[in-house]
Amino acid sequence: MHYLTRITAVTTLLTAICTPVFADPVPKNIIYLIGDGMGLAHTTAYRYFADDPTTKHIETTIFDELLVGTASTYPDDDTFVTDSAASATALSTGFKSYNGAIGVDVDKKPLHSILEIAKQKGLHTAIVSTSQINHATPASFIAHNESRNNYDAIADEYISNKINGKPIVDLMLGGGTQYFIREDRNLIDEFKAFGYQYADDLSRLAELKTLPAIGLFAPAGLPHVIDEPVGTFHLDKMAQQALSLLSQDNEKGFFMMIEGSQIDWCAHANDIACAMHELSDFAKTIETVKAFAEKQGDTIVVITADHSTGGLSVGANSKYLWKSDVVRQVHASAASMSKQMLESNDVLKVWNSKIDFALTDEESALLNIALKKAQETNKPRVLANQISDVINERSMSGWTTHGHTADDVQVFAYGVGSEKFRGFQDNIAIAHKLIQFIK
Ligand SMILES: [Zn+2]
Repeated sequence: MHYLTRITAVTTLLTAICTPVFADPVPKNIIYLIGDGMGLAHTTAYRYFADDPTTKHIETTIFDELLVGTASTYPDDDTFVTDSAASATALSTGFKSYNGAIGVDVDKKPLHSILEIAKQKGLHTAIVSTSQINHATPASFIAHNESRNNYDAIADEYISNKINGKPIVDLMLGGGTQYFIREDRNLIDEFKAFGYQYADDLSRLAELKTLPAIGLFAPAGLPHVIDEPVGTFHLDKMAQQALSLLSQDNEKGFFMMIEGSQIDWCAHANDIACAMHELSDFAKTIETVKAFAEKQGDTIVVITADHSTGGLSVGANSKYLWKSDVVRQVHASAASMSKQMLESNDVLKVWNSKIDFALTDEESALLNIALKKAQETNKPRVLANQISDVINERSMSGWTTHGHTADDVQVFAYGVGSEKFRGFQDNIAIAHKLIQFIK
């Protein structure tokens, strides 16, 4: 070996010994967003729905900007198609389970969730959802129950699951008064005894001034944003208040799960306009959270879906066409229009007050048949489905199911450690990576 080469080799060795191994930077705050039922077709449709038609190009969305990878969602059985409970359990604990499982394994034994681990480590914890806060997705972060349908027992666990003598969630915002204020038990009074502030109206959200706090703004889920006055964003409003509360006294950091719950509900109903408006609220929430992470410089934002719902296709019926303008002309959910048509017994009047394009005679006849059927069977859903059929046909929106599909979902990330979520992963890996940050 030439002596110069030898010196270089020794220097390299010394450098290797003397240089401290810097661990990857670890985020202080974790914000985990779950778009329930939000598949690739949903964010694709949203891009064209949200596009500014006055410009020549198609604007990209926050989803396009933050995309890093994909995830498989299959549950621990032979169905491939997960429900929200099994997937939320995978996303919250890093273990797959059976459909219906809330934070328990296939033997119905409790699993540690990332929220529980965060609380053990002294982080503040929060959940925000537009469904009732004891619905499958948030529930899998807080409770352990063999069935997602045991709503009261799951709500009870929000107070009985304690770490250091206190409930494990410092901030809960969403719906669910019917489960938390019951004849047999008033959990809100019990939370108040633990020092929680309480608000029961979204217009009084700002009255929650310190943690711990709980805000329940509807008996079950909040209204669909499409049925609210233009410019109303429920999830974004709650997320903004949550960030402001969590930023006070934030020495150890926080873990927050935010669920866009009703993308799924609108997709189950095959209601394209309803789904687009829920996506709009979810996208706005992501913008808010990303701006926070950008300012802080110590936060990770990870966004994914638990599964895709409805088997949406952007374009249908063998036509090479999807009409975003038709979707933009719809200003109410099919469910709410169906209700109003049944109340007024007047299809045309309701249609013309909520939708900017006129019905053909044929469509009008179909809706009136459905109205009669809905009245006879006392099933408003029959009429709602017919309303959605007309809008789907006009906009060329395809749906293959009223349930979920096994399609992979997207993973989006921003901030400290976001590169770890690149590429394909199984949904449990998302939880493992996030839990690793806290541990
Ligand atoms: Zn779901």
